[in-house]
Amino acid sequence: MKSFEAVKHYFNLAADQLELTENMRTLLLTAKREVQVQIAIERDSGDLETLIGYRVQHDNARGPMKGGLRFHHEVDLDEVRSLASLMTWKTAVVNIPYGGAKGGIAVDARSLSLGELERITRKFIDEIHDVIGPDTDIPAPDMGTNAEVMAWIMNQHNKYHGFSPGVVTGKPVEHYGIHGREEATGRGVGILAIKTIGRLGHKPSTTRVAIQGFGKVGTYAAKFLQDADCKVEAVSDISGAYYRQGGLNINDVIRYSNTHGQGLEGYAEADKITNAELLELDVELLVPAALGGVITAENAPRVKAPLIIEAANAPIRPDADEMLTEGGVTIVPDILANAGGVTVSYFEWAQNRQYYRWNLDRVRQELERVMSSAFEEVWELAREREVSLRTAAFMLGINRVSRATVLAGIT
Ligand code: NAD
Repeated sequence: MKSFEAVKHYFNLAADQLELTENMRTLLLTAKREVQVQIAIERDSGDLETLIGYRVQHDNARGPMKGGLRFHHEVDLDEVRSLASLMTWKTAVVNIPYGGAKGGIAVDARSLSLGELERITRKFIDEIHDVIGPDTDIPAPDMGTNAEVMAWIMNQHNKYHGFSPGVVTGKPVEHYGIHGREEATGRGVGILAIKTIGRLGHKPSTTRVAIQGFGKVGTYAAKFLQDADCKVEAVSDISGAYYRQGGLNINDVIRYSNTHGQGLEGYAEADKITNAELLELDVELLVPAALGGVITAENAPRVKAPLIIEAANAPIRPDADEMLTEGGVTIVPDILANAGGVTVSYFEWAQNRQYYRWNLDRVRQELERVMSSAFEEVWELAREREVSLRTAAFMLGINRVSRATVLAGIT
């Protein structure tokens, strides 16, 4: 099943519960605008390279469209379309005044020099500057992009449209960014993990955790969960997975990964296993925080964790989701679990527009408030309607977007 088909599948399960008409389903699933552009650059070697960039603007019924920018060799229109639609439901679930969008460039970010990365980013903005903006569509970091890339985006956009830091979020703290944005997604994942562990009648101290992906999201989720007394027994990145019974020392792993230059490769204080084995470890909590589609109908029967928090977008394929849910596994879905990033992006954007800044304590407090309240709403709805947390989250999101669409008047 392709990425957008998977989102459509989850959408329809919730739309059935909401008894949405076919016409409303079509309206809500169809993107407002899909942009595909050519990005031609000169590599450091002097060779010419032509890349394809995408921006899909899915829905703006509840506010300007919002979504990350992914630089990864597997990016294609179908994936960007599905991620843009997930952003619409995500911003609605946490009830922040945004719609949904997503962008990406099909390129292996690790193969680029810093200069090449900057040239590609600026060229992309040259192509799409007139369809993004602080009141229309606001990009943010995702896989393969970071705060520095966001600073280039602001700078390039401002050359065309004048000073406006709110055109992009996830900027460096020293350059119109906000304290706590980098940790926000991982921290939100951690907050919801601890809440769910409690709801299921367990304790952090007896919770063993495996985390796939040790990037911006996985690192902070691991740190938060260790600080909350969980035992993080395995983490991984593209080089493989690292396992230690009884728990890794996450501060040590982060130090190694930051100083070593090639991520976790060569980390010797743990046993090396594969990314596939990590997903099947005997742990109480599994956190996929890397790519989509890593849990499939093939490996789902071997997944032992009774609780999965989807830090990555769409890490579980629909057929695997059904198998796991029927087997009693609790899954906190992506559109709720990883919404911490867009929530703090919203704080950054609001403050850019007011020329005002919160301190880190305030950001963390407000993040916890937004995530907790969304969690309570989803949990209650799931209980009341006897549906999965995923269907409940989609129901909450779809309901808010369809109400806003109707209230604005369709014709
Ligand atoms: P990142 O680029 O910082 O980190 C990605 C990590 O995944 C790296 O450790 C990388 O080595 C690892 N990885 C890549 N390919 C892998 C593979 N084949 N097997 C195992 N590991 C692999 O990206 P990120 O920002 O941490 O994003 C991770 C996920 O979280 C993505 O699905 C992204 O869409 C989602 N997400 C991110 C944010 C955010 O604020 N950054 C917000 C919401 C959702």
